[in-house]
Amino acid sequence: MANRLDGKVALITGGNSGIGEGTAQLFAREGARVILMARREQEGMAVEASIRSKGGDAKFIECDVSDENAVDAAVIEAIRTYGTINILFNNAGHGASGNFPDEVAEDFQRVINVNLNGTFYMSRAVWPHLIEAGGGAVVNMSSLAAQRGASPRMVDEFGSTSSSYWAAKAGVDALTRYMAGVGGRSGIRVNGVRPGQIMTPQATRGTINDPDGGHHAFEKMFDLMQITPGPGYPEDVANLVLFLVSNESRFITGEIINVDGGVAAKL
Ligand code: NAP
Repeated sequence: MANRLDGKVALITGGNSGIGEGTAQLFAREGARVILMARREQEGMAVEASIRSKGGDAKFIECDVSDENAVDAAVIEAIRTYGTINILFNNAGHGASGNFPDEVAEDFQRVINVNLNGTFYMSRAVWPHLIEAGGGAVVNMSSLAAQRGASPRMVDEFGSTSSSYWAAKAGVDALTRYMAGVGGRSGIRVNGVRPGQIMTPQATRGTINDPDGGHHAFEKMFDLMQITPGPGYPEDVANLVLFLVSNESRFITGEIINVDGGVAAKL
């Protein structure tokens, strides 16, 4: 199937890398004009150029999603560029180092600012444009961390992302359900995705270009818990996000769907 997003304008935060880039490429192949927002300009311009070289339409706009004024300005620039926004994928995010209780407050606040506050700032800025467009679709990036705990042995043997990350992504889940309720009357659907082991630059910690394809930071832990063997890739998440923003999911809102090789089902 192709052209499922013909005539749509899609804004993807963190669109210059990993899952965001994979989703941007897929959306462009499906006919959307794509706005990429992130901080690193060189990487953003490279994805923009790559989409354009394949006949798609994309525009990179530099933006730190944790800065509400920057978000408002970037959304104004997006509207100036394409005139409307129909789809928002709040994907930008990261964790920090330091297991609880060693995580420092500055890191905790930074992670909440990017993952949770960034999702709020961006959704708030885009919302009136979705209403003006007659409705739209929002997908928020969560994580298995929002749903599960970790045993002391898991942390000892495999490490853990920071407590801030777990709290931020759980906040994203709650915000997703809340926004879905508010969006109903305006024809705005809001859903979330919860990836597990996905091979991206951040998650593989610099090993992704190794000859063996690299290793996810929590590979050993996931390999013990997954039903489907091996890691997932950005395209696995992108395919779910595409479904959630396309008309095929028109009767689905307020859901947060795992894309994790069956971790949640097994435990
Ligand atoms: P990635 O390749 O490192 O992508 C992270 C993206 O977020 C980058 O494009 C980065 O761009 C952007 N970003 C980070 N801070 C930002 C900020 N303050 N403002 C704007 N953009 C910002 O890693 P990824 O794995 O694809 O991560 C994408 C999302 O998936 C994250 O929210 C992550 O928590 C989530 N996730 C990933 C996995 C996994 O296994 N890979 C599992 C569960 C959830 P700049 O640095 O240029 O700003």
